[in-house]
Amino acid sequence: SVQQETHGFQTEVAQLLKLVTHSLYSNKEIFLRELVSNAADAADKLRYKALSDPSLYEGDGELRVRLSVDREAGTLTIADNGIGMTRDEAIEHLGTIAKSGTADFFANLSGDAAKDSQLIGQFGVGFYSAFIVADKVVVRSRAAGVDTTAGVEWTSGGEGDYTVATIEKTGRGTEIILHLREEEKEFLDEWRLKQIVSKYSDHISIPVEMWQEGTPEREEGGETIPATEGQWQAANKATALWTLSKSEISDDEYKEFYKHVAHDWEDPLLWSHNKVEGKQEYTSLLYIPAKAPFDMWNRDNKHGLKLYVQRVFIMDEAEQFLPQYLRFVKGLVDSNDLPLNVSRELLQDNKVTQALRGALTKRVLGMLDKLGRNDDAKYQQFWSQFGNVLKEGPAEDFANKEAIAKLLRFASTANDSSVANVSLPAYIERMKEGQDKIYYIVADSYAAAKNSPHLELLKKKGIEVLLMSDRIDEWLMSHLTEFDGKALVSVTRGDLGLDDLSDEEKAEQEKQAEEHKPLLDRVKEALGEKIKEVKVSQRLTDSPACIVTDEQDMSSQMIKLMQAAGQ
Ligand code: ADP
Ligand code: MG
Repeated sequence: SVQQETHGFQTEVAQLLKLVTHSLYSNKEIFLRELVSNAADAADKLRYKALSDPSLYEGDGELRVRLSVDREAGTLTIADNGIGMTRDEAIEHLGTIAKSGTADFFANLSGDAAKDSQLIGQFGVGFYSAFIVADKVVVRSRAAGVDTTAGVEWTSGGEGDYTVATIEKTGRGTEIILHLREEEKEFLDEWRLKQIVSKYSDHISIPVEMWQEGTPEREEGGETIPATEGQWQAANKATALWTLSKSEISDDEYKEFYKHVAHDWEDPLLWSHNKVEGKQEYTSLLYIPAKAPFDMWNRDNKHGLKLYVQRVFIMDEAEQFLPQYLRFVKGLVDSNDLPLNVSRELLQDNKVTQALRGALTKRVLGMLDKLGRNDDAKYQQFWSQFGNVLKEGPAEDFANKEAIAKLLRFASTANDSSVANVSLPAYIERMKEGQDKIYYIVADSYAAAKNSPHLELLKKKGIEVLLMSDRIDEWLMSHLTEFDGKALVSVTRGDLGLDDLSDEEKAEQEKQAEEHKPLLDRVKEALGEKIKEVKVSQRLTDSPACIVTDEQDMSSQMIKLMQAAGQ
């Protein structure tokens, strides 16, 4: 080998490796799932590139991954003939983590192995999981379409650094040689490997092959059974999961497939698999993760669906198929109507894309609505992870405003806890006779909302108020003024629409205003420019005073937001 160099891992990779080897022991076998998943991704990428340049196949278009063991050497090798990596790509992909927000993520780890390994699962460890079972990993790779002398060999013991060298490699693709730790020799057992492959990798799109020894010619019951040759045999079904019909797929298969497409380590919360025929023809398999990814609030967080056209992988993270406020949805769409040579640019203004986006958005909203009606506990889990993202919906997606509003959950004066679990339809069901508005308050915290003097009159009248205190709530409510034909009204606004004062009460109020005029004038003078008006009101029962905003003006909460944003 030539041009051998030693490189240090990016700090975060070194940290990750330490965590991987010290805390992911409970479920070691998943290293194989991760490496096979990468091989399948490499096959998908090659198939896509070869659409426009078939010579990349170099006469070998049967894409597969092969497992082989060397008992003497104590190694397990995972070899694919996918897209491969150049020397630079190996350095970039195996030595650094490209996800934005990674440094912050690692800065926030606690140092407590148990807690951190939970977080790590969310982050996804992928290739580095090899070091759970191996104390030395050698990656030999050659990219499709480059000279056989331009291969790369990457070697690391999983500590602080790795070496790269340029090598000659005839076969295209990547070979990963795991030098198994002394106590991990179970992974040299072919039965064990087969079992793991069928458990985790049955439905990735390429065969995972293992060598089947031949048998010599033999006699059995007076018959001669001819010799068989050794051959590679698939240990998995290798059918793309989404092409099967629902009845053929088990929940476990859906879950494992999720881990492959979403690069997540945890089971998904929910999924929906649909084959649509007619005007548009497509299959979609959409998943809601159980946990929010660490970078969900990062502006350049990568998201979107995997796009396939007629079963050929086209691209990852195609964000055109769902709106921003559904960016937590994972999965894939396989279209029969898009051209195979579709690019990101072409997707942008494409009629098919737009129709798919509309249909997939409805699909996700429908699946969440169903969950909300059928499984409170699961819905609460969804809401606690993704509720604040969904709240961007009414501002972004006018057409589906009502459907999104149905999915919202809030804390409420009807409950004695800060848990956000009251929906607008549930509120409406409980409305008082004659009540035609939905009341809410936005404050800095749940406690501030709950104890606000603005609630006093409504409390007295037994009217429920939704209590909001998330940063985004003010923004949300400025785009959500009506639901099911009923106005949503902030209790801090001027007119509450509760003007059912009797003539007597009105007379009393006027009398009081007259009596207290000197006081009102003094307050007005003291506060000067800061206020518009000081009034006697029936709004309060226990507190002496409260601040109210005019119907047309910005709410006090919105003013705070604007000030915080420096405006
Ligand atoms: P992820 O799969 O989520 O991108 P991984 O840690 O599993 O993260 O892999 C890191 C990167 O290394 C991949 O994105 C890919 O670019 C590269 N890589 C890993 N395995 C292979 C392989 N078998 N063939 C080609 N590239 C690979
Ligand atoms: Mg991976």
